[in-house]
Amino acid sequence: MEVMPNRLDRVFYMHQEEYEKKAIEVLRSGWYVLGNEVKSFENEFAAFVGSKNCVGLASGLDALWIAFRILGIGRGDEVIVQGNTYIASVMGITINGATPVFVEPDEYNNIDADKIEEKITGRTKAILVVHLYGQASNMGPIVRIAEKYQLRLVEDCAQSHGACFKGKMTGTFGDIGCFSFYPSKNLGAFGDGGAIVTDDDAIAEKVRTFRNYGSRKRYYNEVVGANSRLDELQAGLLRVRLAHIGELTEEKNRLCKKYLDELCNEAFELPRIREGATHIWHQFVIRCEKREELIDFLKERGIGTIIHYPIPPHLSQAYQYLQYRKGDFPVTESYADRVLSIPLYNGMTEEEQNYVISALNCFNK
Ligand SMILES: *Cc1c(COP(=O)(O)O)cnc(C)c1O
Repeated sequence: MEVMPNRLDRVFYMHQEEYEKKAIEVLRSGWYVLGNEVKSFENEFAAFVGSKNCVGLASGLDALWIAFRILGIGRGDEVIVQGNTYIASVMGITINGATPVFVEPDEYNNIDADKIEEKITGRTKAILVVHLYGQASNMGPIVRIAEKYQLRLVEDCAQSHGACFKGKMTGTFGDIGCFSFYPSKNLGAFGDGGAIVTDDDAIAEKVRTFRNYGSRKRYYNEVVGANSRLDELQAGLLRVRLAHIGELTEEKNRLCKKYLDELCNEAFELPRIREGATHIWHQFVIRCEKREELIDFLKERGIGTIIHYPIPPHLSQAYQYLQYRKGDFPVTESYADRVLSIPLYNGMTEEEQNYVISALNCFNK
């Protein structure tokens, strides 16, 4: 049997007719950028998150850098972020010229709230919280620290659509929540897409203006903006998927509960969930000392895996200029050496999952 790490087609076939109907509707409408589909999606997504405003954008990376641009955070400023994130979180900070200040992760793969305060300096302007792999971060202490030092709080929710901390949705704790709708995300489009959510009407209006060349009224440009618009086709398809997000998240929860119940092998560690947090399982990430052997072992049995992420941002070539060295963030680096995402996707069959479980349980035995 062959089991791929992800199967994006499965989620499409689950509601094929609805997607095809919507696609034809948009194609026949004659209106393709910033129209009623985008407006409706923004309203529906804001309601889902429980935020006053949503502004659709072209990608999750755009959501991040435009958020920091609108907050006026750039050259000479520092932004605190966890070391073990996807590099887009860091690029969202550095595109504006600000400096990322890395903090080690906790055992749940999110920023270790106990290690934030020691990194705050006179230049610190914001904390960027990443709810990695789909699990909400430890927002209680993080919100308290942001308030105590009057820092902006931005959330990278690219992997956490619908995840909560103590009943409150990720994306609603700070000034701005940034989302990605890249196809593999839990709320994925069939192309690129992103959005910001915010309770602050002034911020929403600024982002709305910025995404469209800095203009509210056509050809009257107030600021030097960007072209970062969610298109009508993606917005329409996202509306279809959003209508099913409850059942899709439930299915992933069921799959991961089975993994947690049935995987049993001392060769690797299973993911844990923080008390008070919910996990929407963007990825099911185990940690294994003998990762390379495990990857080969699974590959021989037709099972694909992915490493999220093999090179932490501080050691990537892109950030050589920050002059970090191996050993600077030992927890981050040890996660990068051990994490492994096993197959997980909506539409995964019981047969596929049983096959993955029995292979994993046989490793090294
Ligand atoms: C996917 C992702 C992004 C970037 O989103 P794009 O839509 O691909 O630009 C940012 N941060 C995290 C944590 C992500 O997983």
